[in-house]
Formats: sequence, C-alpha cells, structure tokens
Amino acid sequence: MQIKAPKGVADILPDDIPMWRYMEHALRSALERSGFAEIRLPIFENSQLFSHSIGAETDIVAKEMYTFQDNGGRSLSLRPEGTASAVRAYLENRLYERNPICRIFYMGPMFRAERPQKGRYRQFHQLGAEVFGTDSAYLDAEILALLMRCFKRMQLTSLKLQLNSLGCPECRPQYKRQLVVFLGDNQAGLCADCMRRADTNPLRVFDCKNPGCKEVLAPAPQSLTSLCGACKDHFEQVKELLTTLEVAFEINPRLVRGLDYYTRTAFEIVSSQGDKSPDKSPDQSPLGAQNAVAGGGRFDGLVEQLGGPKTPAFGFAIGLERLLLLLQEQPPAIEPSAWVYLALLGEKAKRKGFILQQNLRQQGITVQMNYADQCLKKQLKSAHNLGAPYVVIMGDDEIKNQRVILKDMKDGTQENVPLEQLIGKLAEINS
Ligand code: ATP
Ligand code: MG
Repeated sequence: MQIKAPKGVADILPDDIPMWRYMEHALRSALERSGFAEIRLPIFENSQLFSHSIGAETDIVAKEMYTFQDNGGRSLSLRPEGTASAVRAYLENRLYERNPICRIFYMGPMFRAERPQKGRYRQFHQLGAEVFGTDSAYLDAEILALLMRCFKRMQLTSLKLQLNSLGCPECRPQYKRQLVVFLGDNQAGLCADCMRRADTNPLRVFDCKNPGCKEVLAPAPQSLTSLCGACKDHFEQVKELLTTLEVAFEINPRLVRGLDYYTRTAFEIVSSQGDKSPDKSPDQSPLGAQNAVAGGGRFDGLVEQLGGPKTPAFGFAIGLERLLLLLQEQPPAIEPSAWVYLALLGEKAKRKGFILQQNLRQQGITVQMNYADQCLKKQLKSAHNLGAPYVVIMGDDEIKNQRVILKDMKDGTQENVPLEQLIGKLAEINS
C-alpha cells in the first residue's frame, strides 16, 4: 500500500529550494534593514488563543482550524496564522520591557482545512511581521511602503495595494448597527451563512464569495463613511503619507479581512495579473482564483484583549506559495551575482574602483569589478553576463572631474554622478 501525503499538503522539493531561498532571503533582509528581529513561534497553541483573537465566528476558527485533544484532554490547534501567537509571545515574554516599539517577524507553516486548489493549501507558509507600540499613521505607511518596495524589487510590478479603514470601538458599533439594518431589509437575497453572520458577526458578510450575496451587498453601507473623527484623520494621514512616498494604492470599501481583531487600516496586496483579459479564466492566472498575496492591518485592541496593557499594533502576512507562483511567472528573479558592476579604465580608476568596491560591500550592495584591464565593451559584456542591473564607468577623465557614469543596463540610460554622491545614490536605488 502506498501512503500519500494528506490532501492539500505538499513537499517542497530540492528543485524548488533556490526560489524559496531567494524569496525568504529577499524578505528577511528587507525586514532586517527596517529593524525587525526574527521570532520563532510554536506550530500549535491552546485553541482558545485563536478563538479569543481571530474570533469564534470567523471562517478561520469556525471551519478551517485543525483542532485536537492531547492526552491530557487539552484542546490544541495547529496555528492557522501567526498574529495570535506573536501577541501571546510578546506578552508572555514581556518583550515590551526591552523597547517601547517592538518589531518582530516570523516565517513558517500555517494550517487551514480549506478546499485545496491553486494557491490554496491545507499546509502553507507565511511570512508575517508585527510592530507593537505605536498607533502612528507613519507606521502604517512605512510598512505598506516597505512591502510594496520589496515586491517591486522582485520585479512584481503588477501588484496592487488595496486599502480600507475599519474604524475603532468608538465608531464601529454604529456602523455595525447600520449594516444590520441593511441586512435585515435585504434578507431575501442572502445565503444561509450570511443570514447567520447578520446575527453573529455582521462584517463577515463581506467575506462571502457567493455571487448572489455580493450583488445584494453592493449598495450596503461602508465603514469608511461611518468613521469617527480620529479614525478619519488617521486614514487621511496614512493615504497622504503613502502619496508622499509615491506608493500607489486604491480604496476598497468592501475589504474587511477574515479576522475580527483588525481596527482602522486594513489592507490586501492583490495580483492584477490574469484578470486583465476578460476571456482568461481564473485558472489561467498565476494564482488561480486566489489573488491576495498579502494582507494585514492595525490591531490596536488585540494585545489588551489577550490580557496585556493597551498596545496599538500593525502587522501583515505574506502567503509564500502565492508569492512563489507569481515569481515563477517571471523568472529570472534570482539575485544577480553583481547588482552593480564597476567598469574601470586605467590604473587610477582601477585603484579608485577597488576601494569603492569595498565601500559598497560595506553598504550591503553586491558588487563586482573588472580586474582584467579590458576595453569598455568587454567590461559591459561581463556586467551583462552577471545580470548586473547597473554599471559604474570610470576612466581617467572621470577621476579628473570627480564624476562617474552610472549606466542603467535595463534601459541603457546613463547619468553623470559626482563621485562623492555615488555610494549614497546606489544605496538609495538598492533600498
Ligand atoms: P483568502 O481570502 O485567499 O482566503 P485570507 O484572507 O484567508 O486569504 P489571510 O488570513 O489574510 O488570508 O492570510 C494572509 C495571506 O496568506 C493571504 O493573503 C494568502 O496569500 C495566504 N493564504 C491564506 N490562506 C491560504 C491557503 N489556504 N493557502 C495558501 N495561502 C494562503
Ligand atoms: Mg481564507
């Protein structure tokens, strides 16, 4: 008898490992550069942790958790996500005592009993990150920019950031009341699940994938129009800061997220690939019908809800299998063995370049230079073969004028940069 892996559970084979490593490395280094420290959390927890945080009435807890009793009769669950464990660990280990702002991230398998399909598995992997200790809109914008920049560096340019604000305990009850009235008036078109949700957890109706419900819900009241003054100001500031950082976003007033703990900013990063052409079925898109690569937002009440001091927080999780599906659409995403190549002409330039190479490496930039005293054409060829997106060209004239040429290998454009600004400029493009 051949025993197979359980449904929706996959092996990650040796051939897949380079892409996994690439993805993990790119995300890990972006987070570490932004002050995040890794935490390794347990795979299973007391079931109560998830029902108290994610919410007993959410699909995740009500339908998707792997829950079992251990020999001592305790109810345990395989973790369906990481935020609940992160908050528990933050409190249990008093991480707030070390620094008023705590930035942590984790990577690992999550478990949900869902119907397996492309981009949706029963064991899947997330990279999650949480910041505890500030309700500043600057943090929301910083993290959203970090995520979008990171995806851009992986050349995933067709991802869209969708934003909403879910309000706070001040304004959400009023919004819920409005929604319940609307649902009461529109019962006829709703599925049984949504009818139940109307009583137990009205916001969850927006999670319903049923096309009939979606239609009924189209004119439903939106959380955005019921925000209190403070939530409105916060959301305006997040949007304004994103615009300052040139991070594109769109507002999705139906975005509620499948977890109860979110307050204020909620977001998803979705793939717009595959849905461009109307005759392309979801199965042909790289993510199948699942288009969300990452999601998250603020959870200003969760730490307190789990027994801790009042601590605002913001976090996100990236679905790594979905990210991988997107990356596989457009290889080669593997880091080039030189991000910048130094093309040096003449002995003086070679010496200068040698020191520059050292300084750039200290900045964390992958750099190689030419030791063979070749002509420019050959040096550019070497840069091309290494996959270097940028080349610095330096010869006698450049040394004399204290300026170098920075060549963008993708579009062939060249820029004349003062030598003393070069490292700063490269570090900025590389960030
Ligand atoms: P979806 O709407 O696709 O069900 P979700 O809202 O349940 O996603 P989250 O709980 O926000 O997902 O998890 C964050 C990310 O984890 C998702 O954006 C997705 O990329 C990934 N993810 C969630 N569930 C699965 C799964 N069953 N298989 C693979 N990836 C998943
Ligand atoms: Mg889900």
